[in-house]
Amino acid sequence: MFAAIFFIRKISLVSIILLWLGLLTTTAETASVYKYVDENGVVSYTDQYARAQPFNPVEIEIWEPDQDAVSLRYTKMGNLYLYNSLYGPVTVTLKMNQKDNVIAHKDLSKPIIIAPRTEVFIDQVNYLGQGKLEFSYHFSVGTPSDIQEDHSNLRAPFAGSFQISQAFNGGYSHNLPGNRYAMDIAMPVGTPILASKSGTVLDMRDSYDGHSKNPADRAKTNYVRLLHADGTMTLYAHLKTGSGVVGPGQHVKAGQLLALSGNTGYSTGPHLHFAVQRNDGTRLISIPFNLKGITPKKGIWLDGQSAYVP
Ligand SMILES: [Zn+2]
Repeated sequence: MFAAIFFIRKISLVSIILLWLGLLTTTAETASVYKYVDENGVVSYTDQYARAQPFNPVEIEIWEPDQDAVSLRYTKMGNLYLYNSLYGPVTVTLKMNQKDNVIAHKDLSKPIIIAPRTEVFIDQVNYLGQGKLEFSYHFSVGTPSDIQEDHSNLRAPFAGSFQISQAFNGGYSHNLPGNRYAMDIAMPVGTPILASKSGTVLDMRDSYDGHSKNPADRAKTNYVRLLHADGTMTLYAHLKTGSGVVGPGQHVKAGQLLALSGNTGYSTGPHLHFAVQRNDGTRLISIPFNLKGITPKKGIWLDGQSAYVP
């Protein structure tokens, strides 16, 4: 029986870590839980009021799903479950930080793929003796893919003609694995954003309002993420508040209206941020793409397709 359970969640570039520890020598009790952030930006939950401090936002990788999208459940019998609430698969990596006196039946170090909207039994893990037991996990959406470059000849994610304001390896903000091969297209708020390729809406958000030049506001960006048959994903971001016309789990065709462009989150002006991403086993990375043979370059004008009919 584990008496004291702490949930410690760290939001880092690519990972969400959930840690729990149990002390065998104390008796079970329920307690109030407080949230605090330490000097390293680690968000923790504790039942000790003295450690509770105001929450400070932590920068995360661009438009990763909410940290609650995957959750861990541990029963009194020692059964460990993981639940994926998303409409696409996730790849979870578990880590056992304390192995002394721990009985597990499986090799928990291997990545675990969890199907959409599914809870899976992982293992029965029990603890003997005194001390503590710690698990951590992180997840990334999708399943591992080796695709280095998307050759699928994507269509432009809009109709009309707009200028690329930042392209691959753009110095302003395209400098992380998840967005190194992304493009920004300046366009007025309210421009229809279209699917570049057929796929399924894996995740989306259109509830955020406002924008800033603070990178911490990356997490407050409205976006649609599509999962495609080859395992790659396309990302459409900074969308207008409340403009989404598709929902998670919905299949969309290339050219189908997804939402309207906006200026939400970490953004200095109205534009669309577009990227193709894949799961490399532990995280999302962006991959080079072209649009009907055109490699995005800063300053060039892109002509969208005329297929869109409002
Ligand atoms: Zn961008």
